Amino acid sequence: MPKPDKTSIDKCSTCGNFTLSTSAHGISLPEGTFCKDCLAELVKIGLAQRTQKTVRWYYSIPFVILELLLFGPFALPLLWKSDRFSSLVKVVLTLIVAIFTVLIAIYAMALIKKASAYFQSTIDLLE
Ligand SMILES: [Zn+2]
Repeated sequence: MPKPDKTSIDKCSTCGNFTLSTSAHGISLPEGTFCKDCLAELVKIGLAQRTQKTVRWYYSIPFVILELLLFGPFALPLLWKSDRFSSLVKVVLTLIVAIFTVLIAIYAMALIKKASAYFQSTIDLLE
């Protein structure tokens, strides 16, 4: 077994264990040197993020909240498709949006009633 060159021994940037750079035990990248185990973990995380639909920006918490504020119940599918929120948070947010939607509908109906009463009184004055 060949003795490793002293310059090829490096510290892993993640776990701090000594590793042999540019060998089967590790790799040196511009981002740092990684041992075999940490490299495998990083590759696993990278692949999981690439395949996870939840990484998409429109499922991010700030964007979903903004959409809920702007579009109310129409943004609920986005909330339920996102994996960033726990089931409890999804239920609570859905209830809040539902209550606000009902309140806005009641307010709008009262406003329409008021407006039609105003127009009716104007028509009555003209007759
Ligand atoms: Zn490591």
